[in-house]
Amino acid sequence: MKICRDCNAQIEDNVSVCPYCGAKQTGENSTVLMTMMKFLQLEHFAWKFGAIMAIAAVVIYIIAGITMMATGGFIAQRGGSAESGMMVFAGVLYIIIGIMAFTPIVIIGFMMLKKVEYYESVVYTDVSIARARLTSVGMIVFCAIFNTLAMIFYLINFIKTKNSAAELDRIEAEQKGL
Ligand SMILES: [Zn+2]
Repeated sequence: MKICRDCNAQIEDNVSVCPYCGAKQTGENSTVLMTMMKFLQLEHFAWKFGAIMAIAAVVIYIIAGITMMATGGFIAQRGGSAESGMMVFAGVLYIIIGIMAFTPIVIIGFMMLKKVEYYESVVYTDVSIARARLTSVGMIVFCAIFNTLAMIFYLINFIKTKNSAAELDRIEAEQKGL
């Protein structure tokens, strides 16, 4: 038994169309597609993980900033010193830097998450779309800037996609022909 790509119903291994929802099951058993899917899922996880870590970093910077500001304020109340003003200023800087440095990673992480989700959804129905994305050199650079872990999984998919060109040509033709 296998699971329908579309409605998740249990269906026989050898059927090419789901008897429940009519979704095509072409290429379902292809190792090339399963591998592509696996690394898309890993990349998906990496973007999510990166975004969550970046949110945590923003929170830590804000807490540290508030702590510095509160400490500076406390010293100022106790008669003050040259350092108290500096501490309040450093606290404000900490908060600004934390937000500016990590918010783009959060936004891009969630954006990429949605994109990868889309490519996952077309692997078994129109792999040419996922394939076009997985052969982009620019994406390697983009991932390297925003998420090293995602870049590693993307790169593996990139190499595997290039190395499976003949097999993918055959699967693409099969998917379009049905
Ligand atoms: Zn189905």
